Amino acid sequence: MNRITIALSKGRIFTETLPLLAAAGIRPLEDPESSRKLIIGTNRSDVTIIIVRASDVPTYVRHGAADLGVAGKDVLYEQGAEGVYQPLDLKIARCTMMVAVPAQFDYVNAVRQGARLRVATKYLKTAREHFAEKGVHVDLIKLYGSMELAPLVGLADAIVDLVSTGSTLRANHLVAVEDIMPISARLIVNQAALKLKGAAIQPLIEAVARAVQGEEADVAS
Ligand code: ATP
Ligand code: MG
Repeated sequence: MNRITIALSKGRIFTETLPLLAAAGIRPLEDPESSRKLIIGTNRSDVTIIIVRASDVPTYVRHGAADLGVAGKDVLYEQGAEGVYQPLDLKIARCTMMVAVPAQFDYVNAVRQGARLRVATKYLKTAREHFAEKGVHVDLIKLYGSMELAPLVGLADAIVDLVSTGSTLRANHLVAVEDIMPISARLIVNQAALKLKGAAIQPLIEAVARAVQGEEADVAS
């Protein structure tokens, strides 16, 4: 029997992937939030879920330590997705990569005057490419979280971060000034696993694809 390992991150990716896996007949036996386990069995003896950091999902799949995984486009774009096959946009964990600044900061004018912007972000490549395309000179400051704080304490003029409802921005008196790209989570598959275990993986991809289409039809109606 081919064993299949699926890499997921805790939080929204796990929660929003569950219904898609259920549609493929896969149900985890434990909740990673309460059990604290990193290896979780499922109702199917041949399918195991591993819990990894969101930004580590592509690494596990690329190296074949997981056969499949769910990763945000933000992570895939930032890291590059060589060696992994991306068959499906799961349309979950949707948000937008944006530039945001303090409400009182005149971004348009700063850009027009050719000022050098200090930009704090976890997404260096994404930010570098965005500002290079606009011809804006930036000093990038790498952070690992709580980007919204940086402009409030004078570490940066602007941030590049994910925004969904905008409530975190509002709570910190920031406003979005540019959309960089729409983000959603993707199913990713190890290419060798797809060849070697295709008989087990292909039906799973197809079931998840049908579930994504079903969700879309629900949203549209
Ligand atoms: P950590 O919070 O442990 O530092 P992380 O920020 O990468 O790690 P999450 O916040 O769970 O982990 O985000 C995981 C993925 O969910 C992101 O890579 C992104 O694709 C998506 N995501 C992040 N923030 C949002 C958001 N506000 N709304 C919707 N999806 C989001
Ligand atoms: Mg986070």
